[in-house]
Amino acid sequence: MSIAYEDVKRFAVTTPIYYVNDAPHVGHAYCTLHADALARWHRLAGDEVFFLTGTDEHGLKVQQAADEKSMTPIEWADITSQRFKDAWEALEIKPDDFIRTTEPRHYQAVSKFLQAIYDNGFIELGSWEGLYCVGCEAYYTESELSDGNCPVHGTKVEVVQEENYFFKLSKFQDKLEKLYGENPNWVEPSTRRNEALSFIKSGLQDISITRTSIKWGVPVPWDTNHVFYVWYDALINYVTALGYGNDSERFNTWWPSVHHLIGKEIVRFHCVWWPAMCMAAGIDPPNHIFVHGWLLVKGEKMSKSKLNKIDPVVLAEEVGLDTLRYHLLRDTPFGPDGDFTYEGLIRRHDADLSNNLGNLLARVSTVVSNKCAGIGPKPRENSPLKKNFDEIIGRVRDAWENTAPSAGLEATFELIYLANAMLEQNEPWKMEPGVELEGILGDALEVLRLVALLIFPAIPKSAQVIWNRIGLEAEIESARLDDAAIWGLYPGSLPVTKGSPLFPRLGKNSKNSGESKK
Ligand SMILES: [Zn+2]
Repeated sequence: MSIAYEDVKRFAVTTPIYYVNDAPHVGHAYCTLHADALARWHRLAGDEVFFLTGTDEHGLKVQQAADEKSMTPIEWADITSQRFKDAWEALEIKPDDFIRTTEPRHYQAVSKFLQAIYDNGFIELGSWEGLYCVGCEAYYTESELSDGNCPVHGTKVEVVQEENYFFKLSKFQDKLEKLYGENPNWVEPSTRRNEALSFIKSGLQDISITRTSIKWGVPVPWDTNHVFYVWYDALINYVTALGYGNDSERFNTWWPSVHHLIGKEIVRFHCVWWPAMCMAAGIDPPNHIFVHGWLLVKGEKMSKSKLNKIDPVVLAEEVGLDTLRYHLLRDTPFGPDGDFTYEGLIRRHDADLSNNLGNLLARVSTVVSNKCAGIGPKPRENSPLKKNFDEIIGRVRDAWENTAPSAGLEATFELIYLANAMLEQNEPWKMEPGVELEGILGDALEVLRLVALLIFPAIPKSAQVIWNRIGLEAEIESARLDDAAIWGLYPGSLPVTKGSPLFPRLGKNSKNSGESKK
């Protein structure tokens, strides 16, 4: 089959659903924020957008955590799932749907999806003995262990034997190779694609997909002594939320126009099992999977069991929400691993938001106030900056379309830099009022309008403040790139507000250095 992954007129984006035993940390925020920014970008681009996130609530670890607290698993999941909802709200992350795998709609979809695979002859009963990590809720082969321990947790694995239903993954080897062969960008970046493909080529084994030893899961519809292994129900969330087995019109409208954003630790589940499960159930695989790296802290992955986890809500309160959003989107390109440091965050804020963008806004509004009675003039049609913009906008759009917000923001900030350079060269604060002064200020106001539009997906609140300060009234959210991302549309004759600094410096050399920021 051939997949039209280039067609983004309808753009559904998903994050992994997060395990409820975790507390939301910056690593979760990193992926979810990218999904939020991409959703906002595609809305500006005029696409129909659906953004899904949620929580994964089954499995042994949830059952154990609830037991320890003398709660039922659902009581525990209600509390812990809410922490993720609260975090996303505090970070201005606005999913269209937040799915919980304990919801009735999900039980219904899982039953129908796996019953379809069973009816199609791709599930059978067998006996299983394997090396199992409780932390991962996954079996490992001997060769995958590191020094005999779980490669993710570094903890001991247990020998577990049970009678399970097996998914005949081995039957999908050829079909998966064909899928990868015909759709070279199906998994990005290519390093992750190659990793998944070589795993497929090494030979696929059938996998156990049910448990009798656990009660906390979705019951197997044809044999209620079993529940589905947590990973099998979790993956199906992506189709539950689009109406699988419940609303076929909605499902067929959206599926498979879906882009999954995932972390590199779950490549095998998403890039091997999931497409095979879709084919076995008789539906197309999703259109696109983008694999991001880990946000490391001092070289180590953030996790619940380590002390290096950082609460993104606390951090946003400390440094400012848009400072955190901008840093996470700009400093670590989506794909490779990145290092999260407080110093890096402060440096990025001061260099880009304070010295570049904030400075442009402050200079322009001050000179308009002093020399033009606070009324912003129109840009010049033949402005030298028009040529720069016409070139930069192409790069910005390409970057966002290619799941690269960091490159999109970098290109956008070139425009701000060029506008500041124009001001420094012409020194409008020394000029007499007149056509030349008005042209220069109009150009700078036009850059602020365009920049506010282009950074809206990353830092929506600050973008809207800039938009309003230069006298524009409508919500940026309702603008469309094809109509608005064109040089020369700042209408002029608008009141420009000289407000307080939008991004005061946070670093050591700032005036606030006495108030310790750490
Ligand atoms: Zn493990």
